[in-house]
Amino acid sequence: MASVELRNVWKIYKGDVEAVKNVSWKCEDREFFSILGPSGCGKSSSLRMIAGLEEISKGQICFNDKVVNKMRPRERNVAMVFENWALYPNLSVYENIAFPLRARNMSKDVIDKKVKSAAKFLDLEPILSKNARRLSGGEMQRVSIGRAIVREPDVLIMDEPISHLDASLRARMREELKAQVSRLGVTTLYITHDQVESMAMADRIAVMNLGEIQQIGTPLDIYHHPFNEFVAGFIGEPPANFVDCDVIREGGKYFITCPAFRFELNDVWAKRFAANFRQRIRLGVRPEDICISFTENKNCCGLEVDFVEIQGDRTIITLKVEDRLFLSEVLGDVRPEIGQTIYVEFNQEHIHFFSLEDGKNVFFDEETKN
Ligand code: ADP
Ligand code: MG
Repeated sequence: MASVELRNVWKIYKGDVEAVKNVSWKCEDREFFSILGPSGCGKSSSLRMIAGLEEISKGQICFNDKVVNKMRPRERNVAMVFENWALYPNLSVYENIAFPLRARNMSKDVIDKKVKSAAKFLDLEPILSKNARRLSGGEMQRVSIGRAIVREPDVLIMDEPISHLDASLRARMREELKAQVSRLGVTTLYITHDQVESMAMADRIAVMNLGEIQQIGTPLDIYHHPFNEFVAGFIGEPPANFVDCDVIREGGKYFITCPAFRFELNDVWAKRFAANFRQRIRLGVRPEDICISFTENKNCCGLEVDFVEIQGDRTIITLKVEDRLFLSEVLGDVRPEIGQTIYVEFNQEHIHFFSLEDGKNVFFDEETKN
């Protein structure tokens, strides 16, 4: 087993394409570490450098604190599972799993033992002789994991292994994959653009955008304390709402105002703004942190309902906020009328304020201190 560390790593392709920019992180031994970000943000480039399939333009990659930059792929003992699984359709399950071992000229007996032990572990024993062409999606996934683990890798890399499956199968695969990998106890780098997958599976997540790391932390750290506006907007479904506001101080109290609403900040926020005052700021609030009421209360703002999406267990209400729309997520039995004015209050424990200049969470340190 091994820890994997990137130290100020760059990938610059021909034509000055900066795919990975000064990225640093460390995945501990046996950790399930996810790299999460939109398509094209440099995830696959990162892992190809880790596997030794792509030259490192600048920086160092270390396994167990030892620099591996010059090591060939085979010496790194990394196994990969890709989105398309790349099984050999004409070979049986057994032969697909045995393939990497045969390529290493292992004896027949050793191969047989290893294949059978992987098959047992992955529940593939009953279908060992089945042709790979006739496998279901779930079976193919398990065979491709079998093929990856059979040579006992130090690091298992999975690049969007279930992205192409339809939603219901993906949800099931998520659980199964996570269970299989945790039983293995192997250092795992899991690449995905799907925040639900990362949140559900990973011990820690590194969020990337445009070749750069945005934030590294546990799923809940990142969800509750986004380092910047990108992370706040990328994590969570439906996504967070943002609107630019003025901060107003009146008789020791602090108010957040924009043309659509005005509300008073609680003592926690008042203290933070007293210490670090900003006149203009971007408010970020998640749909589940907008509480609604059909009657007016203190510190509420009236907003017009633009659309109501009924999802059964929950209702997504679209509200008009100036020239933009806010999404609010409420329980399924709450169903306002379109055009109606409802009264909203923000759950101030979970709102965030972002800088208009650089998008950083202005009070990140204060949020994470307690
Ligand atoms: P992701 O896996 O996050 O979708 P990639 O690492 O595949 O992102 O790609 C990151 C950026 O690098 C993209 O802009 C992509 O077009 C570019 N890129 C990837 N591979 C190459 C290559 N071999 N040559 C030039 N540009 C590349
Ligand atoms: Mg990719």
